[in-house]
Amino acid sequence: SGSAWVAQSVKCPTLGFGSSHDLLVREIGLCADSDQRDPFMVANLGVLASRHRAFCQALPRVSPFYAVKCNNSIWVLRVLASLGTGFDCASQLELEQVLGLGVAPSRIIYANPCKPVSHIQYAARHGVQLLTFDSEEELTKVAQHYPGARLVLRLWTQDSESVFPLSAKFGASLEACECLLKSARDLGLTVVGTSFHVGSNCQTPHSFMQAVADCRRVFEMGRAFGHDMSLLDIGGGFPGAEGCEPQFEEMARVISAALAQDFPEGSGVEIIAEPGRFYTASVCMAAVNIIAKKAVLEAGGWASRRKLLYFLNDGHYGIFRIFLREPLPRMPIVVKVKVWLWHSWMLRSLSPAPSPERQWVLVAGGEEVKEFRLWFLPELDVGDWLVFPSMGAYTSAMSSTFNGFLPASTCYAMEHELRCLEGEKGTGHLGDLSRGWEVARTCSRHWYPHVGTRGLGRWGSHGWGD
Ligand code: PLP
Repeated sequence: SGSAWVAQSVKCPTLGFGSSHDLLVREIGLCADSDQRDPFMVANLGVLASRHRAFCQALPRVSPFYAVKCNNSIWVLRVLASLGTGFDCASQLELEQVLGLGVAPSRIIYANPCKPVSHIQYAARHGVQLLTFDSEEELTKVAQHYPGARLVLRLWTQDSESVFPLSAKFGASLEACECLLKSARDLGLTVVGTSFHVGSNCQTPHSFMQAVADCRRVFEMGRAFGHDMSLLDIGGGFPGAEGCEPQFEEMARVISAALAQDFPEGSGVEIIAEPGRFYTASVCMAAVNIIAKKAVLEAGGWASRRKLLYFLNDGHYGIFRIFLREPLPRMPIVVKVKVWLWHSWMLRSLSPAPSPERQWVLVAGGEEVKEFRLWFLPELDVGDWLVFPSMGAYTSAMSSTFNGFLPASTCYAMEHELRCLEGEKGTGHLGDLSRGWEVARTCSRHWYPHVGTRGLGRWGSHGWGD
């Protein structure tokens, strides 16, 4: 049960639960004694606070509206609400989730340019005023169902430099913008600004520069049609994996320079962004287990080659869905069970580095044979674990239960710093611990309220800590 886990974590302080890595080590160690080896993730919610700090420091003029689609875990949302971010929602369900936390409708943008009528009506009923659009049809729907909306025109951007381009489906060209702004005026609708998205995991900051310059032109067009243009939304697309900080900071420098040029301070324009993976990618690590192994002969060339198939208990219908669209294979950390039993801290040192001498092997998703090419040095055995860092973005949010494999569960940990923040601000978003406990236990695997905790009155008052 949940409390048994807490008891264990309190009893074993030497393991040092300061990070998702430590939690993962602990979880794998506990599984070693049993046959229960379901895939799982560990989420260090403290990472959200450091990412938020980094975002606000690097882009002080930009208010982050976290893109819920990226990871809609209730714990992630609660922490972000507590930190004071806004939210970018793509559907009624996401609006419900965020509003349900008590977030003010003014801190939400409904940033899907193609919305079902019933979802628009929901936004209207609940006072979520900021809505994006990029077509005449959307304007017609909004005019009929939510004439009081504050509209944000989404521009097409050059996104070929991103890992996940979005411009094939979203964004109006500069030529189309003029007609749309005119139509909005003729329909009596209010356009308050522009938005864009350079594509997820954008590889160059220059996409932002062009997009900001385009927005400036559309602001001028909008004002010429009598719209009070006062909101610039620079979207998402920032990198998020562990170690991405230098790339992010460089991107932020270029964006800040573009903003200074086209939307200088004092211009009266509010600037927001919709970061997703920057906040959550490095929150989670995932551990999946090898459930079966087969040697097969691969025909080809002058000789056939022995190839190993490893079957995992998660795959591309689960948390690996995003891998299908990533250009480079991910490098897992290998945890050999036998070595594990010998010495747990081997986890770090077993991480292999890619090299051409190493053997190519195929790893198959447990639910069907779907090949992921990965490098490994050691031959693996049934029961061994593969650990993937930076698995907090677009993983559990995209998982299905295809073939009856349940999505990986998540163990959440919250650090001292976060709980202090909650204590200071008293926002209530992190909720009452006992309520939180219930939620975490039913939706997820375990809840570790004491990770890194020391002397926290409010959280310790439930008698489980310190
Ligand atoms: N905003 C919108 C409208 C999106 O479609 C997405 C992702 O697809 C995001 C924000 C988040 O993007 P990222 O995770 O790359 O920051």
